[in-house]
Amino acid sequence: MVAELVFVGTEILLGNIVNTNGAFLAEKCAELGLSCYYQTVVGDNKERMEETFQQALSRSDLVIVCGGLGPTPDDLTKETAAQVMEMALEEDPHTKERIAEYFRNSQWNVIPENNWKQVLVPKGALVLDNANGTAPGLVMEKQGKRMILLPGPPNEMIPLFTEQVMPYLGKKQPEVIYSKMVKLAGIGESQVADQLQDLIEKQTNPTLATYAKTGEVHLRVTAKAENKKEAKRLLKPVVKEIKRRFQDAVYTTKEEVTLEDAVVKLLRKKKWTVTTAESCTGGLLAGRLINAAGASKVFRQGYITYSNKAKRNLLGVEKATLEQYTAVSDQVACEMAVGGAKAAGADICVAVTGLAGPDGGTERTPVGTVYIGCCLHGAVKVEHYQFKGNRQKIRDYAVVRALNLLRLCLLEE
Ligand code: ATP
Repeated sequence: MVAELVFVGTEILLGNIVNTNGAFLAEKCAELGLSCYYQTVVGDNKERMEETFQQALSRSDLVIVCGGLGPTPDDLTKETAAQVMEMALEEDPHTKERIAEYFRNSQWNVIPENNWKQVLVPKGALVLDNANGTAPGLVMEKQGKRMILLPGPPNEMIPLFTEQVMPYLGKKQPEVIYSKMVKLAGIGESQVADQLQDLIEKQTNPTLATYAKTGEVHLRVTAKAENKKEAKRLLKPVVKEIKRRFQDAVYTTKEEVTLEDAVVKLLRKKKWTVTTAESCTGGLLAGRLINAAGASKVFRQGYITYSNKAKRNLLGVEKATLEQYTAVSDQVACEMAVGGAKAAGADICVAVTGLAGPDGGTERTPVGTVYIGCCLHGAVKVEHYQFKGNRQKIRDYAVVRALNLLRLCLLEE
């Protein structure tokens, strides 16, 4: 099935808001095995919206429209879509009751005049209740073409799409779609693409899509088949081949597992404790570890040692080391890792020291220089990185690399 996405909102056209719904829906369409060739953003203008819907319907089987379902007069999506699909609007008693209930439970108590227009739905449309707002989702079907209208606010659209639209579309597909997400860390997207070029070029079923994330690359392998068992059978050799090519860079094949989840799982398996000694990441690394459920079993405390004095007092870094090599050095990362493990009485300590900029760079230590140390039962490993990007990006990359170094040290043991 060929799907097309349309986003309605002058705010998106003007750059006032980022089209995060676009990224979400495009990814979900790929997951559902829908072919998606076009995405359009159109302002809150009836004529242009009409033209956009007509063009989208002429070249795609399914048009998913997001935004402009609100109660105000400039919200015109439903009216325009119903007109293009030649479906009249009628009052939906169920939606009317749901909206009345929504306002009964709110601070306003009565339905504002504007919201009455939201009880109108195209005749014959499937109405999808919106648990987090007043505008329902709508599915219209006519002569083999479908339009799905979704509210713009992500906190309304995302649950509505995952809980109701995905199962609906899954049933409409003649084949079963099954996919696995292979997640890699510590390797760049272009390196991954190079190593997978042959698989990417000959892909038909399963298909292979790469997604670059900060410090990570995710690979979605999607198979289409008559049933789930057959789809899984098609998927298996491809996932196996990816794992063979990337070995330890693969940290999971489960969609919901994050890098910190994988690290905490390994630590729990070994029954080891971890601590963090952070300079430029200022607690971000500890925060990521604590994101993982079950972190309390392996993490008791961490250190934010931004100044040299803190590095000396809390981690026991030698004054002479700081003077001779400076705070951003292999030697200081090493002493931070050893000192952190000792101070916390932990099996492992990961230490990060770097220069996130924008100022302070020198020829010897340019902005983006980061040293990450990992001390595991006294054995220390330090890695040197040179990251690109702004202060935030450099710190984010450092955190991912630190988590990954920790993971690799655990795998080696
Ligand atoms: P409402 O009932 O809130 O008016 P709506 O369906 O009319 O819902 P819009 O008015 O188009 O939706 O957008 C409401 C808000 O939802 C926007 O201000 C923005 O914060 C968010 N939003 C809309 N579209 C997008 C998008 N494509 N990506 C991310 N956020 C969006």
